[in-house]
Amino acid sequence: MKSTVEEVELIRKSVRAFCERFPEEYWRKIDKNHEYPEEFIQALTDEGWLSVLIPEEYGGAGLGLAEAGAILEEINRSGGNAGAGHAQMYTMGALLNHGSEEQKQRFLPKIASGELRLQAFGVTEPTAGSDTTNIITTAVRQGDKYIVNGQKIWTSRAEHSDLMLLLARTTPKDQVKKKTDGLSLFLLDMKDQKDNITIVPIETMVNHATTEVFFNNVEIPVENLIGEEGKGFKYVLSGMNAERVLVASESIGDGYYFVDHAVQYANERVVFDRPIGQNQGVQFPIAAAYMDIEAAKLMRDRAAELFDSGQKVGAEANIAKYLASTAAWKAANATMDTYGGYGFATEYHVERKFKEARLFMIAPISNNLVLSFVAQHVLGLPRSF
Ligand SMILES: Cc1cc2nc3c(=O)[nH]c(=O)nc-3n(C[C@H](O)[C@H](O)[C@H](O)COP(=O)(O)OP(=O)(O)OC[C@H]3O[C@@H](n4cnc5c(N)ncnc54)[C@H](O)[C@@H]3O)c2cc1C
Repeated sequence: MKSTVEEVELIRKSVRAFCERFPEEYWRKIDKNHEYPEEFIQALTDEGWLSVLIPEEYGGAGLGLAEAGAILEEINRSGGNAGAGHAQMYTMGALLNHGSEEQKQRFLPKIASGELRLQAFGVTEPTAGSDTTNIITTAVRQGDKYIVNGQKIWTSRAEHSDLMLLLARTTPKDQVKKKTDGLSLFLLDMKDQKDNITIVPIETMVNHATTEVFFNNVEIPVENLIGEEGKGFKYVLSGMNAERVLVASESIGDGYYFVDHAVQYANERVVFDRPIGQNQGVQFPIAAAYMDIEAAKLMRDRAAELFDSGQKVGAEANIAKYLASTAAWKAANATMDTYGGYGFATEYHVERKFKEARLFMIAPISNNLVLSFVAQHVLGLPRSF
């Protein structure tokens, strides 16, 4: 059932209170040491915030994207990084909409309780990039299991997850009618197959626990295939609208974080005998970014409402993701300029959030691909690839 405005506000207030236990110094230390925020994720799980999208009969709160988005937004607005745990929400759509009743009963209660973590989403491959239909990791059926060989890249949180939602090729590319066919979606039990999986962390500008994952004769029982064999790309795509709305929420949280900080700093910092915020050259970029964030938030709210009421949402979800990530980036730059040299000092936290906000222009889908979606599917311009 749809939450009222007051109920969503109550969720926001509770999440804000929760985040006070994980202040910016906590995140600064995690970032500096390239650690995974284990304590934060465990507490978030224990208090049920990560499982809000799981229906009540499987141990979750049975809420929608409006509420899930509010949670991620508040985490990022507090100075935290929801990216450490967002995949459980991102991947939920595939399992809920396309998983069998048996799979839901087997996995969802354990995911909701935190006994199992579903934090890894293995789609991207080095040679395919944004062209997901070009992936070459194979899953070959042998009796009652699939044998997986190949490689994923940028598989975030693989070292901190029990399960991976994995997209792999079950029919060779030259044997499918449509290039979107022949890919299948699996729930891989990584702990069970740890001897056949090699995980190599990638050093990155942003602390995102991201890795390369190599599969060497990894076994997946047939009962872990989600939906029909060969239809995995369709399932991933349908889940992506939810992912876009959620990532937009994280960006909106980042955007407000920057504006909150820029305003405070601009009011306090005195140069030439006046607060720097008195200069329109400092005020205007902050005000402009704030307006963009407000507009993106409206589009995110609209997309979440359409999604939660089961309506078509491809255009709105993509537009929300684009507007929110670019608004957050505009706010990030305005804040860097406002802080001057101090923006570069880690103790002011701006540089950490700056790096985190930049990621969402590229992942989980690059904004060029969003532009391409809107050009083709919303405006009816010719397909470019
Ligand atoms: C920190 C991090 C975490 C990530 N986590 C995950 C994860 O958990 N799971 C996962 O599966 N993936 C993950 N990704 C991968 C991410 O989804 C991809 O990086 C992203 O989709 C872009 O793919 P690519 O890097 O291969 O870029 P490419 O596809 O090589 O594209 C490079 C550039 O060219 C542009 N481009 C390419 N083709 C076109 C075109 N036809 N028209 C216009 N522009 C084009 C792109 O927009 C991009 O700017 C992560 C990435 C990062 C950096």
